[in-house]
Amino acid sequence: MTKEILIYAEVTRDNYIHTVFFELANKAQELAAKLGEAEVNALLISQKGLAADYREAFKNSGISKIYVCEDDRLKTYSTEYFTKAAVDIVKEVQPEILLLGATNQGRDLAPRISTALNTGLTADCTGLDINEKGQLAATRPTFGGQLMATILCKNLPQMATVRPKVFKPAEKDNIKPADIIYKTVNLDEIEKKVELLEFHKKLTTEINELDSAEIIVAGGRGMKNADGFKLLKEFADKIGAAVGASRAAVEMGLASHDMQVGQTGKTVTPKLYIACGISGAIQHTIGMDKSEKIIAINKDEKAPIFEIADYGMVGDAFEIIPELIKQL
Ligand SMILES: Cc1cc2nc3c(=O)[nH]c(=O)nc-3n(C[C@H](O)[C@H](O)[C@H](O)COP(=O)(O)OP(=O)(O)OC[C@H]3O[C@@H](n4cnc5c(N)ncnc54)[C@H](O)[C@@H]3O)c2cc1C
Repeated sequence: MTKEILIYAEVTRDNYIHTVFFELANKAQELAAKLGEAEVNALLISQKGLAADYREAFKNSGISKIYVCEDDRLKTYSTEYFTKAAVDIVKEVQPEILLLGATNQGRDLAPRISTALNTGLTADCTGLDINEKGQLAATRPTFGGQLMATILCKNLPQMATVRPKVFKPAEKDNIKPADIIYKTVNLDEIEKKVELLEFHKKLTTEINELDSAEIIVAGGRGMKNADGFKLLKEFADKIGAAVGASRAAVEMGLASHDMQVGQTGKTVTPKLYIACGISGAIQHTIGMDKSEKIIAINKDEKAPIFEIADYGMVGDAFEIIPELIKQL
């Protein structure tokens, strides 16, 4: 029997397939090759009539089948309905591996699916592989980031969640029209306990799109105070960058939590990451070490950030950054 790797294709509020799906689909191709005869398939739960449109979006992801559960009660995310739909389909399909993005939705859904199916779940993985026994080897930080643990799951499906941007989507198109397989799930037996009345988007005064930025200038405790972050912002504006921060800087009130990069913040993969006054603790670097190029500015030449930096400047950020702005 062909083994299946099933990936949950989250539909966003704007009716797009969440980008983390394409990142997982690309990684899953690698896992499938190691498993031997394995298919990479998608699980789509959505309102009625959209599957055909999504088929187009899936075209380049190399997946073979899209299992679809469509119902107008599935227009917006609901824990009860989505869990029921996902659990019923996964029970029927019996995939070897089930992957979800560690998004708000994925974090709500994954543990419920794993509990209902009495299987294990490794959350927020930073690496996925297939070991010599053909098992999913899911790696994630543990003990506050001091250790990296590789976790195996005894039952099927072996489940894992991965944050957006940990893996890269396929660079080349993997064009393969997928088959749509409609599945019927009886939602009537579900007592919905929560009703979404309205959705309020959090409004921030500044647009700081860390997720999509090609260049990020990030500041840590070494940027010292609000003036330090003002300087970073000025530098960032000059080079068209977004501003990120270490947790220390967030805790000092110099930046907001949505600017935090790292284990308990965002994972980013810009073309260029400029770390200013950041020491390079593993909990920070785990969120940015896959950036294409890293430049570190730090006055301590022994700071661990230099171990992962492509270029380093040893010196006072309050002297270097104004000089860079001047030169620019
Ligand atoms: C469970 C857990 C989760 C965590 N999650 C995260 C996370 O998501 N993100 C995160 O960032 N951290 C996280 N941390 C915290 C992490 O361990 C570090 O404490 C934090 O990253 C340190 O931030 P920093 O590098 O800004 O500060 P520090 O480690 O204090 O480093 C400051 C650096 O600035 C340099 N410096 C000082 N003055 C100057 C100057 N004038 N010019 C140039 N350089 C200067 C210093 O040499 C030093 O290297 C987490 C910790 C735990 C336990």
